[in-house]
Amino acid sequence: MQTEWPPIPPTTTGLKGRCPRCGQGHIFNGFLKIRPECEVCGLDYGFADPADGPAFFVICFACVPSVLLGVWLEVQYSAPLWVHLLVTGPFMLATCIPPLRPLKGWLIASQYFYKAEEGKLDRTSPASKEV
Ligand SMILES: [Zn+2]
Repeated sequence: MQTEWPPIPPTTTGLKGRCPRCGQGHIFNGFLKIRPECEVCGLDYGFADPADGPAFFVICFACVPSVLLGVWLEVQYSAPLWVHLLVTGPFMLATCIPPLRPLKGWLIASQYFYKAEEGKLDRTSPASKEV
């Protein structure tokens, strides 16, 4: 098995849902469920924790335009409820659900690429022994 992996930018792996280390395996098992490990290189996806990151980006960049569309339809045309059900609802679903997977993949790949993890105390540093 290969032991050295060249760094691959998160935009080329994560947006496609590919493994951030080898770029060939898959991150997801289903729509948003993360696999336990890469089926090609064996990378353990235990580090992957994008938390609410994908939802945050969808709220900022997809939900707001959807709500603005609904408000604009209501204010401009006094649209009846069935118009919102046929226009605003599907527009909201079409702009909010599809971006979740590539955003989640991109955040996971970015975590791996930039080695992001929780902060830890460095007990080996000389500054920590002075106390
Ligand atoms: Zn892999």
